[in-house]
Amino acid sequence: MTHVIVVGGGPAGLSAALFAEKNGLETTVFDTDKTWMHKAHLFNYPGVGSQDGTAFLDTLHTQVDSFGVDRKQGEEVTDVTEAGDGFAVTTEAGEYEAPYVVLATGANRDLAESLGCELTDEGVVDADVTMETSVENAYATGAMVRAEEWQAVISAGDGAAAALNILSKEKGEHYHDFDVPADAESTFGGMVDEA
Ligand SMILES: Cc1cc2nc3c(=O)[nH]c(=O)nc-3n(C[C@H](O)[C@H](O)[C@H](O)COP(=O)(O)OP(=O)(O)OC[C@H]3O[C@@H](n4cnc5c(N)ncnc54)[C@H](O)[C@@H]3O)c2cc1C
Repeated sequence: MTHVIVVGGGPAGLSAALFAEKNGLETTVFDTDKTWMHKAHLFNYPGVGSQDGTAFLDTLHTQVDSFGVDRKQGEEVTDVTEAGDGFAVTTEAGEYEAPYVVLATGANRDLAESLGCELTDEGVVDADVTMETSVENAYATGAMVRAEEWQAVISAGDGAAAALNILSKEKGEHYHDFDVPADAESTFGGMVDEA
């Protein structure tokens, strides 16, 4: 069963997917690969140094794939609606359901608006620090929640915040995704170093 559907595979969506899947929530990402990262060169992403945006994305793809995210590259989401206790997500290829949806469609807010997410006076999707929108269990992350001041690290942080809030709801208490050096060998077998 898919727990989390993520729409958009830029830094926001892939970060949400990484945190959710790594911590046991089956996660599917749909992405049409129009991310601005293909136009960027990062000098301002802490810890990364200097890296081409597409190379950054390649590393992120390897990282989420290594944790088992179901990444449906090239599959466009055409509609998201509330259905039962969750959401129905329609793509050009079929229909999918999940109790949580994370919208990460960059500056495009069409899906959020048609789902009924409230906008702010500035016309961006209204979300609090957990990134949850006015529609319960629907999250909005990245460029879509900001009028400007767009940065990759902010989007990645939004995605992480959304996933941690979903995990807290699922676990029934505040959830921390903290690892220690020993985890690199015992739990993940060096997986992260290879990403
Ligand atoms: C020229 C340029 C240079 C930049 N340089 C820097 C820089 O140096 N440092 C920095 O931090 N930031 C930089 N940025 C900004 C950075 O690229 C963005 O802040 C970041 O990409 C936003 O991430 P995001 O995940 O919110 O959205 P995006 O990266 O835009 O990702 C959104 C993804 O959602 C997909 N999508 C949209 N709708 C759908 C749908 N219906 N179904 C499926 N998929 C969908 C898109 O195809 C896209 O892949 C630059 C941007 C530009 C344009």
